[in-house]
Amino acid sequence: MEKQTELYRGKAKTVYTTEDPNRLVLHFRNDTSAFDGEKIEQLDRKGMINNKFNHFIMSKLEQAGIPTQVEALLSDTDSLVKKLEMIPVECVVRNIAAGSICRRLGVEEGQVLNPPTFEFFLKNDALHDPMINESHIRTFGWAEERDIEQMKALTFKVNDVLKALFDEAGMLLVDYKLEFGLFEGKITLGDEITPDGCRLWDKETRKKMDKDRFRQGLGNVVEAYEEVAARLGITLD
Ligand code: ADP
Ligand code: UDP
Repeated sequence: MEKQTELYRGKAKTVYTTEDPNRLVLHFRNDTSAFDGEKIEQLDRKGMINNKFNHFIMSKLEQAGIPTQVEALLSDTDSLVKKLEMIPVECVVRNIAAGSICRRLGVEEGQVLNPPTFEFFLKNDALHDPMINESHIRTFGWAEERDIEQMKALTFKVNDVLKALFDEAGMLLVDYKLEFGLFEGKITLGDEITPDGCRLWDKETRKKMDKDRFRQGLGNVVEAYEEVAARLGITLD
């Protein structure tokens, strides 16, 4: 299916309409951003890697019974997806402490979180994606009660599937962010699951293999993403 008009240009992807009003094309760009878009760089091959990575992961989740946006891989950088009515919240699960939870709660990076934590954030760059709770979601009508429960349940189900998948490939799934939307009234996983939106550490050495390499200026960002893909058996070229 062909891309038609540009609907939205985000920080890392451009969204296009198609001839089918219920389908969109997600175009994964090389743009890599951190700190609310304060740090931006073009990383060669990143769009292609994330597009193929996302398609692989979403297909695995679909096979595991999780409703996802996935339709088809169209090209190196483009995927056909279901057009979701996005819910403006981000769902974050953490298995190990890193990033904002360390800053907020004074927890040491690397502490195992048992049980894993669940957090909602409001998707709003101007407000720096503040942390919110279910009461805010209800009061401001960002999602229905039933959908709040579904998002939580599905986010934990994703954890079960992905923790095992990465573990078998020698990696720890530290944390990740999911975005959901409604498709024909049903909560469906959208956006992306890539090393841009999760933290992955080597199981033995704890080497960072995700966007923290970019955030923290550790170098070899794309090389790390490629290694994650290779370990999962994702064909890139
Ligand atoms: P951001 O908006 O955070 O800068 P992106 O560059 O990734 O992020 O832009 C992609 C946009 O497309 C996001 O706003 C995301 O919520 C939205 N989106 C992702 N998947 C879908 C989908 N299947 N249907 C509709 N919108 C989607
Ligand atoms: N995350 C994301 N988009 C956001 C905020 C967070 O993809 O707008 C991901 C991030 O990559 C990490 C997880 O969600 O895997 C938790 O992020 P955290 O709250 O620790 O924020 P950070 O310190 O990464 O900004």
